[in-house]
Amino acid sequence: MPRCIPEPYKIKMVEPLQVTTREYRQQCMEEAGYNTFLLKSKDVFIDLLTDSGTSAMSEVQWAGLMRGDEAYAGSRNFDHLCEAVEEILGYAYTVPTHQGRGAEHLFFQNFVQAGDVVPMNMYFTTTRQHAELAGGVFQDVIVDEAHDPASKCLWKGNVDLEKLRALVDKYGPERVRMVSMAPNVNMAGGQPFSLANLKEVRQFCERRGIRIFMDITRIAENAYFIKEREEGYSDWSVRDIMREICAHSDGAWMSAKKDGLVNIGGFLAFHKGQEELFERCRRMVVVYEGLHTYGGMAGRDMEALAIGLGEVCDADYLAARVSQLRLLHGMLDEEGVPLVHPCGGHGVFLDAQAFLPHLDQDLFPAQMLAAQIYMEGGVRSMERGNVSAGRDPESGQNRRPPLELVRLTVPRRVYTQTHMEYAAESVIDVFRRRERIPGLKFTYEPEVLRFFQARFEPVTPTR
Ligand SMILES: *Cc1c(COP(=O)(O)O)cnc(C)c1O
Repeated sequence: MPRCIPEPYKIKMVEPLQVTTREYRQQCMEEAGYNTFLLKSKDVFIDLLTDSGTSAMSEVQWAGLMRGDEAYAGSRNFDHLCEAVEEILGYAYTVPTHQGRGAEHLFFQNFVQAGDVVPMNMYFTTTRQHAELAGGVFQDVIVDEAHDPASKCLWKGNVDLEKLRALVDKYGPERVRMVSMAPNVNMAGGQPFSLANLKEVRQFCERRGIRIFMDITRIAENAYFIKEREEGYSDWSVRDIMREICAHSDGAWMSAKKDGLVNIGGFLAFHKGQEELFERCRRMVVVYEGLHTYGGMAGRDMEALAIGLGEVCDADYLAARVSQLRLLHGMLDEEGVPLVHPCGGHGVFLDAQAFLPHLDQDLFPAQMLAAQIYMEGGVRSMERGNVSAGRDPESGQNRRPPLELVRLTVPRRVYTQTHMEYAAESVIDVFRRRERIPGLKFTYEPEVLRFFQARFEPVTPTR
């Protein structure tokens, strides 16, 4: 086995990166209030903040941009998008949106009623926010292993059926009207669910008239893990597995900025039988996004997305991507850096609580670790822990989630093996001086989705 599977593409155009000094980066971090979201991209050397909208498009997608039909209504690119969604994912009806959260907004406003209980396999920040804005009550039904970074369980994205059953027993299908499942669960470290689990959830729900709506943002990466790991699927194409996943849902939304291989876009899609919900969402899209044949995307964006949905199913591309992630994961693991195991499908997640055990969670160890990694080597990552989880609306206290993580997210088709090695070395250098790293406290805390714009200053623990 080669240490890294070579990418099945080569570089045609280069974008220069700026090399900076440690002093300069320190100054940038202070100015950004120790929040990597507030750094300027020009000051970042290797940007592992997110895999969202950061993909490199192919020559075919760039050619597709030139074929944009920028008509206000009835653009042919919208037809191409609908065809791709139907052919690849099997959904008969598509509502285009400007990105994933636009689709979530339409979906939750039109489906969830005040007091509904909304079970999900862990939460995603914007998804939970939209469920709650619609009056829903989020409930986590992911397996316990997902909350344990060290557990090497292969299906940490699975739903725990007993947790789901307990919720339905308690609230009844009148209040638990839907279950949401996300492939390659972001907040759990990019961890997949198995098709066997999805089928069990489907069976459980069907008997009770509960619908399944999926957040298929990272469906190709989950499908690849199924092909690689789940018994009975090694001969299946990734595309067929993706279609099979969607077949066990009633509808889905997607942030196309991830597995859509585009820089912007999203959609809501439904199977036959969901006409009423589809019509309601389609009526609302014109208020918030744009006409129902573009939903906030330009014609060229829809064309690039239609092509991207086809390209992402390529098993050779997915094998190279996962191998690049495993290289980064393996280098860190060899040095004893605490990580989420197994390696996920879109990033490598550091266990910041184990990395900085001298910091209480309310001193935001993951936030500080992300800041330190930037100052060390110009590598930008993201906090996924106590800051992202926000405050409990009832108690007003920090939620203190079981996972206090830093995410090194790898953009699709963008960086090389050397970039991964450099990023690993930067993290390892921080690890070697971890005992001397102080915590953080808020100097500015926004009320919703606080992680995006919050500011901090260092504080030395007093324990
Ligand atoms: C990114 C993301 C979203 C939100 O999509 P945007 O395109 O950023 O609005 C929703 N769900 C998941 C799982 C995501 O990763």
